[in-house]
Amino acid sequence: MSAYLFDPPAVVAVPIDGQAATFPVRRILCVGRNYAAHRREMGGDDRDPPFFFAKPADAIVAPGSDVAYPPRTANLHHEIELVVALKAGGKDIAVAGALDLVFGYAVGVDMTRRDLQNAAKDKGQPWEAAKGFDASAPISAIRPWTGPAPQGRIALSVNGQPRQDASVADMIWSVAEIVCEASKLWTLAPGDLIYTGTPEGVGPLVRGDVVAGEVEGVGQLSFTVV
Ligand code: MN
Repeated sequence: MSAYLFDPPAVVAVPIDGQAATFPVRRILCVGRNYAAHRREMGGDDRDPPFFFAKPADAIVAPGSDVAYPPRTANLHHEIELVVALKAGGKDIAVAGALDLVFGYAVGVDMTRRDLQNAAKDKGQPWEAAKGFDASAPISAIRPWTGPAPQGRIALSVNGQPRQDASVADMIWSVAEIVCEASKLWTLAPGDLIYTGTPEGVGPLVRGDVVAGEVEGVGQLSFTVV
């Protein structure tokens, strides 16, 4: 095999609770409008089902790292989300077997340039600049998990002030349904992460803000916007 023209990018990896091994990230899928109250705050139609978009793997921000305020936005928003980490893949996965693909769960924040997203919506343009920018996917360590998906509290505060506080049980598509739906559109594989959507209460961040998020039973994350 011939040499690469330049060194290929390093594999992005996320720590795993209680294990020395890390979780190598293949790609990041995200679910939009997966909580009814958030769909309403975004001006959505109650009949519209959730949908997918994506972020590049290197958008991940490792636990404990600061998050740089991105350029070209004046309205950076937080979206606290449960993240699913897959250890297996496939296509056309049945809901009944979907949780067998899950390695574990993490807490993530889907950072969003809301002003660019609103402009893209108005123009019918894609969301990459609004959602898939550098450092747009802070994440906690992954907690290995078997059995039913988390159902507990999901919450985010900024500088100690509550912003989002809901229950993962309120998701429109369950974790199993998300894996099933995603596998109809893409061949899933080990290393895929899925950000499962955010509840109501999204809002702006400014430099210096300390963001703290949690999903009950899964973990916490915290970062400063710099
Ligand atoms: Mn989101």
